[in-house]
Amino acid sequence: MVTAGRQKSWTGAVVNPPVWRASTHLYNNVAELREGVKSNEDGRFFYGRRGSPTQWSLADALTEMEPGAAGTMLYPSGVAAIACAMLAVLKPGDEILLTDSSYDPSRSYADAFLKRMGITARYYDPMIGSAINTVFTEKTKAILLESPGSLTFEVQDVPAICQAAKEAGIVSLLDNTWATSRFFAALENGVDISILAATKYIVGHSDVMMGAVTTHDKYWTRLRRTAQQLGQVVSPDDAYLAARGLRTLEVRLKQHEASALQIAHWLKSRPEVGAILHPAFSDCPGHEIWKRDFKGSSGLFSFQLTNGDEESRAAFIDALDLFGIGYSWGGFESLALPIDPAKYRTATDWRMDGVLVRLNIGLEDPDDLIADLAKGFEHYNSANKC
Ligand SMILES: *Cc1c(COP(=O)(O)O)cnc(C)c1O
Repeated sequence: MVTAGRQKSWTGAVVNPPVWRASTHLYNNVAELREGVKSNEDGRFFYGRRGSPTQWSLADALTEMEPGAAGTMLYPSGVAAIACAMLAVLKPGDEILLTDSSYDPSRSYADAFLKRMGITARYYDPMIGSAINTVFTEKTKAILLESPGSLTFEVQDVPAICQAAKEAGIVSLLDNTWATSRFFAALENGVDISILAATKYIVGHSDVMMGAVTTHDKYWTRLRRTAQQLGQVVSPDDAYLAARGLRTLEVRLKQHEASALQIAHWLKSRPEVGAILHPAFSDCPGHEIWKRDFKGSSGLFSFQLTNGDEESRAAFIDALDLFGIGYSWGGFESLALPIDPAKYRTATDWRMDGVLVRLNIGLEDPDDLIADLAKGFEHYNSANKC
């Protein structure tokens, strides 16, 4: 992570690959220009849309971090990465299966855009495991996994699902944003195409939107060609910031993990709290799978306010000073979000008493965060009384 993607020919005498701002790339002569068109090689100057050393270096680093990978494409957001990865492997008449725990924009993309393209989407129980093969039809060509789900944190049996998919000739795509390749080696666990909202932990500082898709030999050319045809490119400034974030990914993740675990254990001891939806807790569906397959846990989890309602939950969140209220996660600052997963379910029922809160645990002192949450509970309890 520290050395990944840092080729001397790209960095020169400095440590980080400089920001190459460019649309036009200049050739020395016509013969060289013609050669560039013909070869369409990675890591070669051509035109701004194909990137420059700033983007190549970041993409290379992400490839290096994913054992078994042939290459990585970068996209201007995580959603763009999901959309383009699906388009690269689907055609009209096909069907894609999505886990019922999928990130909502993945669902709406499949339900609206892919539907218009003549591609149908069906949803499956995230905990289905190897029984996934009972859901496959002749038309099924791709399957989307998200493990753990980013609201409800079910850990999927990725190796079993991907093995069944492989046997049926179905391509598997995993949204690996929560774990990143540091905590879950997607391709080694049987995934064909690994997707990251780099906006979250790769960037890590809440100041850049980016997506990345990494795959092995079989799908690499298709993925790359589709991204090029759709004109996907990230700015060199954003690539620079993402690469800078990447250098500290390991230490940040370790701290997110430790702080989130400390806070989750403290929450578990509170009388107001029921289930802790965190893969490292036995309350979490798939906890045993997490223990088997993952190298760690990151800083995002949810918990149940057993007797809470919409109003008392708002009182809890509004009382917090250190936790911002907002979307996204994976940055250095903590966030709290009211979540209502039942709204996004079609294949399974989501039932839990009370209400849920999702926390992104940032890099603040965890004791300060706990004091802040304790204050939230005071407001929550007063709101529940009246
Ligand atoms: C945020 C997120 C995305 C989308 O990333 P953007 O960069 O915000 O478009 C995709 N998947 C998951 C699980 C996410 O949390």
